[in-house]
This record gives sequence, C-alpha cells and structure tokens, in this order.
Amino acid sequence: MRQQIVAGNWKMSKNLEEGLELTKSILEKIDKPKGLVILAPPFLHLREVGKIIRVRKHFHLAAQNCHHEEKGAFTGEVSAPMLASGGVEFVILGHSERREYFKEKNALLAQKVNMVLANGMRPIFCCGEPLHIRDVNTHIGYVAKQLKGGLFHLNEEDFRKVVIAYEPIWAIGTGRTASAQQAQEMHAAIRVLIAKRYGKPLADETTILYGGSVNAANAAEIFGMPDVDGGLVGGASLKADDFAAIVAGLK
Ligand code: PEP
Repeated sequence: MRQQIVAGNWKMSKNLEEGLELTKSILEKIDKPKGLVILAPPFLHLREVGKIIRVRKHFHLAAQNCHHEEKGAFTGEVSAPMLASGGVEFVILGHSERREYFKEKNALLAQKVNMVLANGMRPIFCCGEPLHIRDVNTHIGYVAKQLKGGLFHLNEEDFRKVVIAYEPIWAIGTGRTASAQQAQEMHAAIRVLIAKRYGKPLADETTILYGGSVNAANAAEIFGMPDVDGGLVGGASLKADDFAAIVAGLK
C-alpha cells in the first residue's frame, strides 16, 4: 500500500540520553501526522527509543543498516534477526554513505534486502546519483541500475513491502536540495521502471520518498509532487521543531 512517510535518519549523532530527549520532544511536537513517522536512531538507541514511541500509533522504528548474513563471526556487526527481535520494523539499506564509505555494492544490498524481508521487516532502499552523473544527464539510467541490482530480483509479494528513497548524493547534507521538479522527474521515472518490472498497479502502490537537504521550508513543496510520498531526512531530523514542521508538510 502506498503510504505517506517521513523518516528521520539520525546517522551517528546523539548519545543515548540526547537521543531519548530528542525522541520525547518529537513526540510532543507531532500530534496527528498525515502519514507514518519513522525514527532511525543509532543501533544502541533502538530499544529505548522503541519503548518511547510504542505508545504512539503512527510512529515506527528503523535501523540504519544490518549485516547480510543471519549470524556468525562478524565482529562488531548487527544482524537482521537481532533487529527484528528488538522491535525494529524498517531497515535503511544502500544509503549513499554506506555505498561510498563502506563500499556496499548492489549485489550485497540485494542480500541485505533479502535478509531484512526474511526477518519480517521492511527495507527502505536508497538510490541516487552523484553530481557528475546528473551533470551528463544519465541519472535515470544510473538509478535504474541500482534498482535492478538491489531490488528487482524480488518477487511481487516481497517487493510490495519495500519503501524506496531517492536521494541524489549531491543533495545529501549539502544544503543543496533537488528542486521539486527534479524530484518529481526521478520519482516518475522510478515508477515507470517498477511498472516495467512488476506492472503499473504495483508501481502506483509503491512508496517513494525523497531525501537530500529536506527542511522545514522546502518539505511541503517537494512532498506536494504527485510521485513523492514523503521524505528521508538527515540533518533536520535532529531538531524536533524542524522535524515536526517537515512531517506537517506531508500531503
Ligand atoms: C540522508 O542522510 O538520508 C539525508 C537525506 O541527509 P540530509 O537530509 O541531511 O541531506
């Protein structure tokens, strides 16, 4: 089912105490959201943040990553079964920071997607092009490759559970947002790709978020585009007032 969503990716920010404070003030400032509100704190915070948000209907918990194997000798890693057992419902996969700094490729991401789904959670699958690709106008083909390599192996039933986040890398954490028209163009193109693979009805049902310097001032315009179903928010998700204003921008 197509859903309106705002997801806050805290990345490696906030110690536990600060994270719980932030969670409480977000809950205070968001009363009746028009869609789902997902918080993606660091691994260590998940249990405690989960306990706080559990009492509120529209709030959900996400992890920022997981390992592609179920268990084993992978010191320092966190598995999908661990996350599921801790009440996590969504897992962000393929964030550009993971792709760039941890060299995560589409084939590995496909394994992670499988692992998340096999453990009853939903992937938030990130895709998006770097600036040099946008500059030569090959961004749609670039994103198509990411989707084909990381997601399109899924059967229809599993694909239905996936949330896609289009995040142009040049807009992440840079303050340079894609225009609403640029976001719409890519989201519409992603829907065409999904339609080719899974048919139009499923493409129309797929939730596609925009990410990249979303803030209180630009959220409503971007979310107002017909193929944009909300946002994945980094920096602005760390301030309760800003995050609440972004959530208020859902259509
Ligand atoms: C992100 O990290 O997914 C993101 C979109 O970051 P920011 O909102 O800070 O650009």
